[in-house]
Amino acid sequence: MYALNYQKAPSLKQASRALTESPTSRVLSGGMTLIPSLKHRLIQVDQLIDINGIAGLKDIRVEGDHLWIGAGATHQQVARDPQVRAFSNGLADLAGLIGDPQVRARGTLGGSVANNDPAADYPAAVLGLGATIVTHQRSIAADDFFKGMFATALAADELIEGLRFERPLKSAYAKFRHPATGYAMAGVFVAQMDPNAWRVAVTGATDGVCRWSEAEAHASCGNSNQPPSFEHERVLDDIHAPASYRAHLVRHLYAQALAQLS
Ligand SMILES: Cc1cc2nc3c(=O)[nH]c(=O)nc-3n(C[C@H](O)[C@H](O)[C@H](O)COP(=O)(O)OP(=O)(O)OC[C@H]3O[C@@H](n4cnc5c(N)ncnc54)[C@H](O)[C@@H]3O)c2cc1C
Repeated sequence: MYALNYQKAPSLKQASRALTESPTSRVLSGGMTLIPSLKHRLIQVDQLIDINGIAGLKDIRVEGDHLWIGAGATHQQVARDPQVRAFSNGLADLAGLIGDPQVRARGTLGGSVANNDPAADYPAAVLGLGATIVTHQRSIAADDFFKGMFATALAADELIEGLRFERPLKSAYAKFRHPATGYAMAGVFVAQMDPNAWRVAVTGATDGVCRWSEAEAHASCGNSNQPPSFEHERVLDDIHAPASYRAHLVRHLYAQALAQLS
């Protein structure tokens, strides 16, 4: 292990300021991605800024017709919170399908969304529900936030405070887990936002979470026809699954999510 500084930040503003002190400072939330990356020397940092003690960062509350989930809320909190369950079954189910109990006990919504792993689950719900990502500086619509593999609209010193979700009429998430890691080999989030507006987001299958417009049109038309084929120019093709298999999975998971909608 190499030497590094550790500090606990009392606020997001101060954490952001500390980030600018060195180009290799990183914010530590659940540590479920950051710590393994450090242990495997995939990244090297000279300062960790722990945001776990910041007041209110783990809050979950209903605000009128919106649901607020603080960036520090763990996957387990989200999966078990009755307010989340009453708001969106898809979101609560998705949180309960992340990793294993240990990962769910530590990993956080903010960390997952900021990391934007192409096989992560939360980006599918955030995009599928058209959520708003609230940072300590501004609000960013989900449609403008995810920028492909491990890339987001966040500036280097910008920190997520929480996410605001709109209430769907119905929602569901279907996932095929990678047998070794638990990450999504493919995952499809379907949400009916109003009688005529559907959103469908796909994770795991391409180089970053994306909306699937053909499925949105299919769902809007009452989904009585066969589900569309998943056509995308960058379907992942690797030792775990060829592109044709992943595309097939997406189509199948979309049908499964439609059947689960509630
Ligand atoms: C064994 C294992 C299995 C897993 N399985 C799954 C799975 O099935 N599905 C899935 O989706 N994920 C899975 N994960 C990842 C897990 O969900 C992580 O919790 C998540 O990716 C990162 O969240 P974290 O809170 O641990 O963030 P950290 O590891 O603390 O941080 C991750 C990155 O986000 C940054 N960051 C953290 N918080 C903020 C913030 N508020 N604002 C801006 N940047 C921030 C950090 O600086 C860092 O760069 C798995 C992880 C492990 C170890």
